[in-house]
Amino acid sequence: MNIRRSELDHLKGEALPFQVTLDPTELKRRHQEIRGLSPVKVVGEAAKLGNLYYVKGEMEADVQFVCSRCLSPFTDHVVVPFDEAFAPEEEIDEQDEESDVLPLTGDDIELDALLAEDFLLEMPTFPLCAEDCKGLCPTCGVNRNEQPCSCKNERIDPRLAGLADFFKE
Ligand SMILES: [Zn+2]
Ligand SMILES: [Zn+2]
Repeated sequence: MNIRRSELDHLKGEALPFQVTLDPTELKRRHQEIRGLSPVKVVGEAAKLGNLYYVKGEMEADVQFVCSRCLSPFTDHVVVPFDEAFAPEEEIDEQDEESDVLPLTGDDIELDALLAEDFLLEMPTFPLCAEDCKGLCPTCGVNRNEQPCSCKNERIDPRLAGLADFFKE
């Protein structure tokens, strides 16, 4: 989806609401941790303020991951906020570059590629089904979230081993 600069110029600072849905197929292909993905719903608004054009809003989707610790599939409802500023290429100065103002050529603000990028950046590289997922037992392979096992897996820091012996006595 594109937003036209001339339309924002015309609105003189008033916000232009927009809604768009991103195709999940391409997004899924570009991130190896995304095992399944619903269409990504984007709700936002665009406006021209001063010499800059702003686009902001939120993306929402249900994403299927596989937990990196216990290998169980799980679904997460993710909400990814976005907030971008643009200026015509010829008006961008050094200060704008430092504050991440993106250059515009022509009348269109092209959103799809940018939103896809923002979405993928927020996806975890190490997805966890829960912050405190106990993972699989390295000895017997049991999912320790589902059942405890009696394997002794504690790895004692050699520097503390002496201390452990001390407390045993
Ligand atoms: Zn897990
Ligand atoms: Zn075990």
